[in-house]
Amino acid sequence: VKPDSYLEISDLWKSFGDFVALRNISLDVARGEFICFLGPSGCGKTTLLRAIAGLDPQSRGTIHQDGRDISRLPASRRDYGIVFQSYALFPNLTVTRNIAFGLENTGRPRAEIATRVAELLALVGLADHADKYPAQLSGGQQQRVALARAIAISPGLLLLDEPLSALDAKVRVHLRHEMKELQRKLGVTTIMVTHDQEEALAMADRIVVMNHGVIEQIGTPTEIYRDPASLFVADFIGETNRIRCRYSDGAVTIGGSVLHTRTAGHRDGADVMMAIRPEDVLPHSTGHDAVKRPNHLAAQVTGMEFLGSFWRMHLRSAELGDTPLLANFSMNAVRRFDLHQGDDLTVELPPDRVLIFAQA
Ligand code: ADP
Ligand code: MG
Repeated sequence: VKPDSYLEISDLWKSFGDFVALRNISLDVARGEFICFLGPSGCGKTTLLRAIAGLDPQSRGTIHQDGRDISRLPASRRDYGIVFQSYALFPNLTVTRNIAFGLENTGRPRAEIATRVAELLALVGLADHADKYPAQLSGGQQQRVALARAIAISPGLLLLDEPLSALDAKVRVHLRHEMKELQRKLGVTTIMVTHDQEEALAMADRIVVMNHGVIEQIGTPTEIYRDPASLFVADFIGETNRIRCRYSDGAVTIGGSVLHTRTAGHRDGADVMMAIRPEDVLPHSTGHDAVKRPNHLAAQVTGMEFLGSFWRMHLRSAELGDTPLLANFSMNAVRRFDLHQGDDLTVELPPDRVLIFAQA
């Protein structure tokens, strides 16, 4: 048991009849940490969250919270607050009464509850809406109420299942910042389920990437993005160009070009998948012999799209045959190299950005 570990899940499995929804899930969450479960729809995120909450217990495996084995504890005796995608507020109760609901069940004195509710209303920025009913609030405001209700009893653990997914883009981005700030202020250990990679990257201390009921990778947002453990992770978070090639002695050969990579551990002669993110493909001008150097390719601009903060470049290279290469170039780079459709250029694929995966 690590000293800073607050929630420990070991070898957890969950089946629904013959269908295995979660396999061999092991995870340690530190006290105060913000964890995101990230993965495509149906990968088991909600199932895992519900097991942690005791709403639908695991088939096998154990869960410890704050040193206590809660594996068989009914939901009502566990220590957490939860927020779902649908606001799940009581429509016939005011904002104040919605937030007070859980507190009233604890049998605390009225005055104490009133003080606490006022504090929570201020905390989520709804002091002016205390007497409104849920239907009179926007989606974002309703989710703030749900959040205030979930943290009202100061739970040890905050569980959030796609709390922002039903909101429109602007509100979602705003509220994710607010929620993150609130979590930091409260220091409450938090697990949020999301299928939105940007949300996970923006909010999480660590991301748990899931696929088909297993954990593919656990890491900080930068680790997950920079060093994806599998092609699935590389593709699910961000974008990648993929090129089939052969690995030999720390490098791959593509056409007549050698690309060095820092990825080790592949067998010489193995067929591998090379992957590189569009923003890691760097522009160079032509007219010098850069292209003869390792990690450089001669390419041609077959299309370019202005996407506001950058240019999306569609490149072709004889070395890559029919496989197109996508690159994101800054406006500065496009101006500096005076790039237009049809132009030739040299691109660099830096060794520390060339990722190599075993082919599936
Ligand atoms: P996610 O939240 O990642 O979208 P879920 O955890 O809701 O995915 O579901 C994971 C898988 O388990 C899905 O294939 C889903 O159909 C299945 N599943 C979830 N709940 C049940 C249930 N109560 N009975 C049968 N299958 C279920
Ligand atoms: Mg879900």
